[in-house]
Amino acid sequence: MYVVALTGGIGSGKSEASKHFARLGVPVVDTDVIAHEITAAGSPLLNDIQQIFGACFFNVDGTLNRSKLRQHIFNDANEKGKLEQLLHPAIYEQALQTLKNNEEKLRPQYQLLVVPLLFESTRYQGIANSTLVIDCDESLQIKRAMSRSQLTADEVKKLMQAQTSRENRRNLADAVIDNSGSVHDLIEKINEFHKKLIKTCIVSK
Ligand code: ADP
Repeated sequence: MYVVALTGGIGSGKSEASKHFARLGVPVVDTDVIAHEITAAGSPLLNDIQQIFGACFFNVDGTLNRSKLRQHIFNDANEKGKLEQLLHPAIYEQALQTLKNNEEKLRPQYQLLVVPLLFESTRYQGIANSTLVIDCDESLQIKRAMSRSQLTADEVKKLMQAQTSRENRRNLADAVIDNSGSVHDLIEKINEFHKKLIKTCIVSK
């Protein structure tokens, strides 16, 4: 199994990049998608969330009131920590399982594992064979993150402060793809990265 872990700051273009990797036929395992799935209706984790945070974070139909919980943890590091302690190990286990399933079923040359906070913990170090950062300058990150969500510039900045610095991310990465140009430029850079990696994977298999 060969796993490329993809990361980048908020609004850097991780989702846009993963969409293209998927188009190239690379299996994409996205920890944000898993986080959403394991908190969807019927998930056993919802009971734990209810016990810790209370029934007020649930809608009348029993589903999680995501925006209320998000707001609750946004300004409270302690509460945020409680939720992360619950979710992060479960996300990791599910990601690992999905990578293994993909490996068995699809026998891909490599897989892409998207982890927004890759360098903020050691959790994924054992799985990633190499790391790829999608990068653009902070002002563009803010502009793009705002265009995609309801967040204000200050809220995006606050989220950025909770992430490792751009400099640190770039220093730690095995490869960096600059996403300050157009989506078309990004796609071309990914095509090039993919071609090179396929050659490496074939050689190492
Ligand atoms: P992330 O997943 O890293 O938070 P996204 O991939 O969602 O970031 O990108 C944030 C927003 O910017 C999205 O609306 C996306 O379509 C857009 N975007 C990403 N890359 C580019 C680009 N090179 N040019 C223009 N818009 C872009």
